[in-house]
Amino acid sequence: MLSVALVYPELLGTYGDGGNAVVLVERARRRGIDAEVLRVGIDDAMPNAAVYLLGGGEDGPQRLGADLLRASSFGARVGDGAFVVAVCAGLQLLGRTFAVEGDDEYEGLGLIDAQTRRGERRAVGELVVEVDGRTLVGFENHGGRTTLGDSVQPLGVVRRGVGNEGTVDGFRAPRIWASYAHGPLLAMNPWFADLVLEQVLGVSLEPLETSADLLYAERVRTLVG
Ligand code: GLN
Repeated sequence: MLSVALVYPELLGTYGDGGNAVVLVERARRRGIDAEVLRVGIDDAMPNAAVYLLGGGEDGPQRLGADLLRASSFGARVGDGAFVVAVCAGLQLLGRTFAVEGDDEYEGLGLIDAQTRRGERRAVGELVVEVDGRTLVGFENHGGRTTLGDSVQPLGVVRRGVGNEGTVDGFRAPRIWASYAHGPLLAMNPWFADLVLEQVLGVSLEPLETSADLLYAERVRTLVG
């Protein structure tokens, strides 16, 4: 059974990123793989899961989310081999520090060498990122600008929008993917959902032809040509 943990959706769910869990589970099931969503509320213990999803959130909830995650077994589970997909606030709090409204610096989980500072203006709009020759689409809405340490690999190169700081978006590490793209990310980019599933399950998957896959192709044609 593939277990997908949706972490603190009441804090990190402002932008519909809970849909990422639905997409992973549904795309696994359509390949005959048993899968379930474990919804992890702020009062719940961190369950054992194959993959943890961290979504975007507003500044206050993001701070609380970071505190709760730090006090939980999340870091230990990631150290033990769990996978993580993080979006926006989720991305920021995996880093060493992040700055949100009213704070110069707030402590992140320190799982990735990245720091987020306040930008001069919010980044709001379409986000298009090239990831290994493929196109990732979504929308962004964030005040933070993220700088990666020298050894951290970005997820991809920004073709439209801002991402981390105008040139690259997100980061990737063994078993971790992070992006500024909402949408939700995995609903708007079915190929990326399948890439995550393939890594988590250790299998290769045949493509699907769902309406999400067709819409993705349409969106890329409109945005990139
Ligand atoms: N609160 C963070 C920021 O504004 C993250 C926002 C988000 O998750 N969309 O930078």
